[in-house]
Amino acid sequence: MAKIFCVANQKGGVGKTTSAVNLAAGLAKVGQRVLLVDLDPQGNATMGSGVDKRQLELSVYDVLLESASIQEAAIFSEKCGYHVLGANRELAGAEVELVDLERRDQRLKLALEVADKDFDFVLIDCPPSLSMLTLNGLCAAHGVIVPMQCEYFALEGLTDLVNTIKQVHANLNPDLKIIGLLRVMFDPRITLQQQVSEQLKSHFGDKVFNTVIPRNVRLAEAPSYGLPGVVFDPSAKGSQAFVEFARELVQRIPTL
Ligand code: ADP
Ligand code: MG
Repeated sequence: MAKIFCVANQKGGVGKTTSAVNLAAGLAKVGQRVLLVDLDPQGNATMGSGVDKRQLELSVYDVLLESASIQEAAIFSEKCGYHVLGANRELAGAEVELVDLERRDQRLKLALEVADKDFDFVLIDCPPSLSMLTLNGLCAAHGVIVPMQCEYFALEGLTDLVNTIKQVHANLNPDLKIIGLLRVMFDPRITLQQQVSEQLKSHFGDKVFNTVIPRNVRLAEAPSYGLPGVVFDPSAKGSQAFVEFARELVQRIPTL
């Protein structure tokens, strides 16, 4: 059975997409069959996986509106080694179009049930809001991976996300839980980041992943080449950290 995880955080620019594409590439590297679902109309995860969002014939939009299956719409990225269910601006319209439809928050879940046996991991890159799109992600997932920067307001921002996850867990998806918090863009020279990192560990215990993703310019450069850092420059510190994170996640699966 595929493990389905949302990469989510209500804040923008915290490293969701970077984490989603690099974790996908890292998992592929350690031999896992991966589907990356781009649920953000910006289509950054799509482009960052070497799939041109402007050329998509079918996308996650068609899957949500039940006019295509995942098998039909997902594209295998040769360079990255995983499948991509892409997104582009069209997806922003799905929000409105879904409103009047039945089971509007369960569309992705139902679509994934059919593709379940084809993948070991499904990663869903969520937009930075609690929209109908994110809700589809949370309803489909077994858990949430939360990338976060160790900054002053980090814990405060988490409260909203934790409450959202609790509500979805209580009302829509009893499977849903936080899989773990991933410290990203970490700079150990900054004392405040170390302090917040310690705070996170004392608050959330083993819900904080052991692997820490450093701030690394190669990870930021990679998207302009249409690649995850893990593929663009495997020897970069940030890339190695994501492969390490993929290993940690695979090891954690039996304990979830
Ligand atoms: P989100 O999807 O949450 O909006 P992104 O993954 O797009 O966030 O990241 C926001 C910006 O930070 C991007 O420019 C990205 O390249 C950069 N970035 C993300 N992670 C790292 C990192 N570990 N080191 C350096 N830059 C990073
Ligand atoms: Mg993003």
